[in-house]
Amino acid sequence: MYHRFDGYDELKPLLDGSDGDILRAFDGKPVLIRIPAASTVAAPRARLVSCLLHGNEPAGFRSVVEVLRRGERFPFDLWVLIGNVRAATEDGLFAHRHLDDQEDFNRVWGDDVPLLGASETRRCARAMLDELRSADLEAAVDIHNNTGRNPYYAVVPDPTPEARRLAALCADPVLAWRPHARPPLAALPPLRVHLARLHVEADFGKGKYTGEALGNRAHL
Ligand SMILES: [Zn+2]
Repeated sequence: MYHRFDGYDELKPLLDGSDGDILRAFDGKPVLIRIPAASTVAAPRARLVSCLLHGNEPAGFRSVVEVLRRGERFPFDLWVLIGNVRAATEDGLFAHRHLDDQEDFNRVWGDDVPLLGASETRRCARAMLDELRSADLEAAVDIHNNTGRNPYYAVVPDPTPEARRLAALCADPVLAWRPHARPPLAALPPLRVHLARLHVEADFGKGKYTGEALGNRAHL
């Protein structure tokens, strides 16, 4: 249902390729990666970066791959979720938010999402969510693009002081706003930030806009 990598051993040969080579090697399936902490002695709790929940929003994927290519390990377990690989690789790279036969991968996360007769997208999201919950995450950042020529901004669904601090490390300004959808981070505890950066060139005709931010439409 999704690819799973633990550490760099199996990942490294893929990372030698271009961004497109890497994505195509995933063969249309989402990906979950865990880079184990450099040391297990007093390691802080795990952290997650997710990207490509929308297949036409490449900024997060490019950033994450850049980090992974360096082969670094961190004081904490780093988890990486690469979402709608199929949409990102159909008809060239980053051409579709999601495909016609798919649900929006950023709308199918949570315990209240029905699974009876559910789509592959939903079942995959639930399986990934189960695994991520067992990872005991401390923080999660979900990276999107939007259509506006605005600065980087972060959206904090729960504006606790800790979440605002994390958001401020990622972007300025920070918006407190709870998206009316079922993105993955809504299902994960407790410190979470959605991060958007400026513009992608792709067609957003299928996009469902859920809020206003800085005068531009954001589509978390
Ligand atoms: Zn998005």
